[in-house]
Amino acid sequence: MAAERRRVSPFGAGMPRGRITSRELLGGKGAGLAEMTRLGLPVPPGFTLPTTICTEFSAGNRLPAGLREQMFRTVEKIGEVLDRGFGDPDRPLLVSVRSGARVSMPGMMDTVLNLGLNHSTVEGLAEDSGDDRFAWDAYRRFVAMYGDVVLGLCDEEHGNPFEAFLIREKKRHRVGEDHELPAEALRRVAESGLAYVQDRTGRPFPSSPQEQLVGAVKSVFQSWNNDRARAYRRMHGIPDDWGTAVNVQAMVFGNLGADSGTGVAFTRDPATGEKVLYGEYLLNAQGEDVVAGTRTPLPIALLEKAMPKVHRELLRLRKVLEDHFGDMQDVEFTIERGELFLLQTRTGKRTGAAAVRIATDLVKERRLKPEEALLRIEAESLTQLLAPVFSVREKDKALAAGRSLARGLNAGPGAATGRLVFTARDAVEWAARGEDVVLARQETSPEDIRGMQAARGVLTQHGGMTSHAALVARQMGRVCVAGCGDAAIDAGRKRLAAGGRILHEGDWVSLDGTTGQVVEGRIPTHESPVLKVVVGAAKPTRDGDDARFRQVLAWADRVRRLKVRANADQPDQAELAIALGAEGIGLCRTEHMFFGEEKLPAMQRMILADGPEARQAALSAILPLQQKDFEGLFRAMAGRPVTIRTLDPPLHEFLPHDDKEIRELAARLELPARQVRERVKALHESNPMLGFRGCRLTWLIPEILDVQARAIFRAAATLRGEGKTVRPEIMIPLVGHRAELAAHRTRIEAIAAEEAARSGTRVSFKVGTMIEVPRAALTAGEIAVEADFFSFGTNDLTQTVLAMSRDDGGTFLPAYVDAGVYGKDPFVSIDVDGVGRLLALAVKEGRRARPGLKVGICGEHGGDPASVELCEKLQLDYVSCSPFRLPVARLAAAQAVLRA
Ligand code: PEP
Ligand code: MG
Repeated sequence: MAAERRRVSPFGAGMPRGRITSRELLGGKGAGLAEMTRLGLPVPPGFTLPTTICTEFSAGNRLPAGLREQMFRTVEKIGEVLDRGFGDPDRPLLVSVRSGARVSMPGMMDTVLNLGLNHSTVEGLAEDSGDDRFAWDAYRRFVAMYGDVVLGLCDEEHGNPFEAFLIREKKRHRVGEDHELPAEALRRVAESGLAYVQDRTGRPFPSSPQEQLVGAVKSVFQSWNNDRARAYRRMHGIPDDWGTAVNVQAMVFGNLGADSGTGVAFTRDPATGEKVLYGEYLLNAQGEDVVAGTRTPLPIALLEKAMPKVHRELLRLRKVLEDHFGDMQDVEFTIERGELFLLQTRTGKRTGAAAVRIATDLVKERRLKPEEALLRIEAESLTQLLAPVFSVREKDKALAAGRSLARGLNAGPGAATGRLVFTARDAVEWAARGEDVVLARQETSPEDIRGMQAARGVLTQHGGMTSHAALVARQMGRVCVAGCGDAAIDAGRKRLAAGGRILHEGDWVSLDGTTGQVVEGRIPTHESPVLKVVVGAAKPTRDGDDARFRQVLAWADRVRRLKVRANADQPDQAELAIALGAEGIGLCRTEHMFFGEEKLPAMQRMILADGPEARQAALSAILPLQQKDFEGLFRAMAGRPVTIRTLDPPLHEFLPHDDKEIRELAARLELPARQVRERVKALHESNPMLGFRGCRLTWLIPEILDVQARAIFRAAATLRGEGKTVRPEIMIPLVGHRAELAAHRTRIEAIAAEEAARSGTRVSFKVGTMIEVPRAALTAGEIAVEADFFSFGTNDLTQTVLAMSRDDGGTFLPAYVDAGVYGKDPFVSIDVDGVGRLLALAVKEGRRARPGLKVGICGEHGGDPASVELCEKLQLDYVSCSPFRLPVARLAAAQAVLRA
């Protein structure tokens, strides 16, 4: 007979060494068990069936030839190690059969516990443990689990009949909890279950442990393809062909009395990162009891008193695990009659603050090098250290009291609580009176900017992750829940209907921009202590979160190649951006500068002008205001490059639309209402995002370009006069054709020459373009001839490449993401296969035409870790993102280098 291929991989004390350790083959749980075995840790013996068997099994619904025999032989070996036997009526061996995929898919697949019990082994278990009740409880649990998972007897039609038998006994004995039932009652539950199986299936419940094992293993493999698991995989982008491993392991029992127990331990505190053993345990309990939540577990510190020896042993194992894995571990353990066993270990999930603390501590402890530590922190999690936070206790209380109203997109992280207002003007007025307000709008437009600035948080009913509300809120650091379709916002009647309730103006509401939750009432918030230090409002600590945050970013800065810039258009944003590491401004959206008290009327006058003279007059009024804006920005940026984008949005966005507001505006500007109404009508477009906007505005009304260019050069000259360095980069939006950029460049150069003559100061500057229209990407080689730099506007580019509105995607995009068509919202993380290919093409052709062409990105993706990684691959020069995302971008840029 040819030598048989060994398919099962043993683990645990006393077992032969398994040859494979890879996570791909053994799954996360199996790999952890194999590693712990190698470290000599107390792991109950067992074996893993690798993921490849799952794939074979799925193809033909049968186990590979010879596998059964290998399993039986290995189980026999387990029996030898433990001095027990599978089916042995005196010292029965019981095993668990659990799934374990490469990445954790919590609760998605099946598990069978206490396998190996039948009418004779249950008596043996009772004898052996000296506890009848325990034995019958194990048996009735096994019958129920097997009946459900393997025999498939619980379904919508039948409910859970096994549970019904248990309830019947509880009624008969007038007790509320399972553990109050005596042995004979549990025996009746088990026997009812066995009889039920015979009735439903026409066959007796399998009594052979071998047959039970084969049935359970097949079912766990099958559960890889159940609906739940499939849906979960689609949601998390996990490939179907990975398959799950199956782990068969000797049972240990935490419910054998007061000297037994079960629990979960983290090798460090997952909330703060503090180096303490953290976790919870229950005495005389099984894992299920912890999960079911019927008993409240105790903090692990109390174990030191209850079982000092076990506690000491846990502390020792914690060190062994951390020395080996070089990271915080999350461990499941069981104590059986005073003896500690580890059942699982994995890298523990943690908060942003904990991630930073653990990474820096591991470097201090010389367990990691800084470069390795950087890879242990999820870049995204850094935003948690800057965002305001809710008092956790108060938020839990609010949710427990049923005050949750709705859930939208988590567009701007952090916690906000305030009184509801429905217009930007009210937000400004209420805030001026010292009120905390939350601004609720169906959607926001540039007119709402001042209201958003005044509000603590912004809630919108429509719009996606790059809707106006979302990107402006992020740039300002405002908490934002966008696209909250579950909330009906009626600005006219000043009310918000959600979760079956109606809130009115002035009612308190709380937004969790990190999760997208909207909660009724007031939940106290705290400002981030790290942010306070960053902005200079608090003293730095030597050993606090702020010190560690700075340390991590300093390491990242040493490694990263990409430069980071900020999307900012106000001096205060620019100062914050510098504090958070900005090396320049990558996008100043000049339209945002027009919403100040004095500037909006000037802009409106310009738009409403009924002839060149009136327009020129309005533009002349704008020039000094805009010059002051740029001076402020240049000053704040202190010699760093500042990319200023010329006017981009459709003009109607600067005008009101309802008749009352139109009349008010006409009165304010002393114009006939008819003129305003007609102009608003004339500017109306069916599809404004593809309409009269971007460089098309300045192509048809070049005086706007002139005034913006003049303001830039005059501001630059003023600063130069003060002996300061200025590096303006003028950027033209929505270019699709080389001719557009050429015309703008010519005009800008002419203005530059005029201004140089006027001031006697020649300012050096760059002219570049956004690449945010597919045609621009496709003809990048031609456009590059006219461009000193490219900046990818991936918000519009995504919108135009996918032909999906960035404002209206909320109604259908989530369904695409759920179905796994797009792994993530393409407005959050670049669609690599579509938009990404255009970026690659544009970089290649642009640099071929113009070697050394500077290329950056300023769409919202500039602060998304996966997109930053793509930017590194494409060798961009910089990424630009909202100030609060700068730390994320810095870390992600370093990680991209380290991963490459
Ligand atoms: C873009 O389109 O990616 C961009 C940065 O411009 P805006 O979001 O202002 O349209
Ligand atoms: Mg754009």
